[in-house]
Amino acid sequence: MVIDTLERPARTVGAALDVNHVSHRYQLKGEPLPVLDDVSLSVAPGEFVALLGPSGCGKSTLLRLVAGLEPPAEGELLVDAAQVTGPDPSRVVVFQDPTLYPWRTVWKNAALGLEARGLLKAQRGRVDEALELVGLGGFASAYPHQLSGGMAQRAALARALVNEPRLLILDEPLGKLDSLTRIAMQGELVRLWQRQRFTTLLVTHDVEEALLLATRVVVFSPRPARIRAEIAVDLEYPRHRDDPHLVNKRREVLALLGVGDATN
Ligand code: ADP
Ligand code: MG
Repeated sequence: MVIDTLERPARTVGAALDVNHVSHRYQLKGEPLPVLDDVSLSVAPGEFVALLGPSGCGKSTLLRLVAGLEPPAEGELLVDAAQVTGPDPSRVVVFQDPTLYPWRTVWKNAALGLEARGLLKAQRGRVDEALELVGLGGFASAYPHQLSGGMAQRAALARALVNEPRLLILDEPLGKLDSLTRIAMQGELVRLWQRQRFTTLLVTHDVEEALLLATRVVVFSPRPARIRAEIAVDLEYPRHRDDPHLVNKRREVLALLGVGDATN
């Protein structure tokens, strides 16, 4: 039926996220390990928010809670005003390690989400579209071992995009890439976000990356993570790393992270 294609919106629209007074802790050798301390954060539909903070402060934990992989010890998380109670294909996570199945082709890896939901037969075209979007159209039949690091990460991104996420959750997705691939993929991420309009939550340890990509940067304290500052980045895209505004913001953020000195 023609109606089916007409009814599907040309662009997915981002979700709103509200993190209200969320605290979280793990048990470590029988002792509670506080990880998040009263974190409150509101993200508007279509925003791109970067989370920065010292290693081990609790950033990935916050993403796990947003993804619904575990419930918070205290507080609540709302996506479009509905409480997060578990994982959902509209909120997908891309991790630093692309974790592709080695025995599946790129196409089959990207198709996993649709297959799991029994939608693959009806919506095969979405897999092709997602691969095109990330520039892997010509590599559909390749196997993971035939891909470079950047291509593998693109495949993981395609696997997420197939679900037409309304909230894309990225946990240091470019962290293991060489610097040239990383720079190229930063630009690609911005273009994807601008085109698909999903809300994006990105954890990165790279201050410059946060400022190049995000509309807002949230800086966390050391564990247990508290929000130390939120910095709006109201610069046009494409941004340039040597833009004086960006350089100034970088200095500001580094100071908030406690690493600002004469060399920065
Ligand atoms: P970040 O992503 O900011 O580096 P994480 O959220 O991964 O930090 O981890 C925060 C803290 O919680 C770290 O001290 C880590 O060792 C600890 N942690 C993470 N996951 C678990 C777990 N499942 N059990 C116990 N401790 C954990
Ligand atoms: Mg982490």
